[in-house]
Amino acid sequence: MDKKLISCAVVGAAGRMGQRICKVILESEKLALAGVTENSRKNCLGKTLKDGLGLPDDKSLIVEKLEEIRKPFDVIIDFTFPEVSMETMLFASHAKKHAVIGTTGFSDEQLEEIKRLSGKFPCVLAPNMSMGVNTLFKLVRDVALILKEGFDVEIMEIHHRYKKDAPSGTALKIAQILAESYGRDLDQVGVYQRKGFIGERKKDEIGIQSLRAGDVIGEHTVLFGGLGERLEIVHKAQSRDCFIQGALYAARWIKGKPNGLYDMQDVLGLNG
Ligand code: NAD
Repeated sequence: MDKKLISCAVVGAAGRMGQRICKVILESEKLALAGVTENSRKNCLGKTLKDGLGLPDDKSLIVEKLEEIRKPFDVIIDFTFPEVSMETMLFASHAKKHAVIGTTGFSDEQLEEIKRLSGKFPCVLAPNMSMGVNTLFKLVRDVALILKEGFDVEIMEIHHRYKKDAPSGTALKIAQILAESYGRDLDQVGVYQRKGFIGERKKDEIGIQSLRAGDVIGEHTVLFGGLGERLEIVHKAQSRDCFIQGALYAARWIKGKPNGLYDMQDVLGLNG
């Protein structure tokens, strides 16, 4: 991996993820912060990072658009909203930048557009950047190949009360991995709610249940239930640091890669 200083721009710098990402970049020896953007409605706009966000930089201003960042940058890091990240990727494709996108909740149409756009720039897109969760993805794929017959699969996720999309991007990714491993179409077999006299569970169902409570950072359980036993694979994020470490690792990894769409499995060498 390139050990030289990589210059980053952060989109959504006042967000839960954005603020922490900026702080860790400013502390990093391998990454530099060229500038940040925020929504025009945020009152930190136009202020320095120090005055607006309490970060140790009293020179760079918080701007509205990536085009307004004065210092040169290589990699854009964006944890915001799908519409915002679509604009980021359009910018990256024109300006020939690299992008690390952690935003979740993209529609199928947006995902198609991302695939098309990423032909023009190198992009890491991952609904969960943690090393533990990406190991879980691999374990789920491996277990699904072993526990093929006689096991039901269910996914449970818990997140904080502020999360806007459901199921989580991570739960959907697990569901896709399971559907692919079993040769099923998720649109046909995904079951997102159960209520009333719905009859027995169908053999091919992939259940996905979302819970929202308090300040839970993120927990995912994949349950393989057979007769007389069940196997559970559980991941619990204890702080947002796991996503931030992953995102910044991806920012260093993506520099110099060919144009295209990558996920954290690619970044961590877990594909194939
Ligand atoms: P948040 O709401 O705290 O932060 C989003 C920020 O984006 C806000 O500060 C908002 O003002 C800003 N924003 C809105 N419009 C903007 C614009 N036009 N330009 C620039 N900034 C703009 O949300 P969060 O908890 O930080 O999560 C953000 C996203 O990251 C969500 O989709 C979440 O699911 C996802 N997430 C992904 C991972 C991962 O590992 N991939 C981990 C945690 C969260």
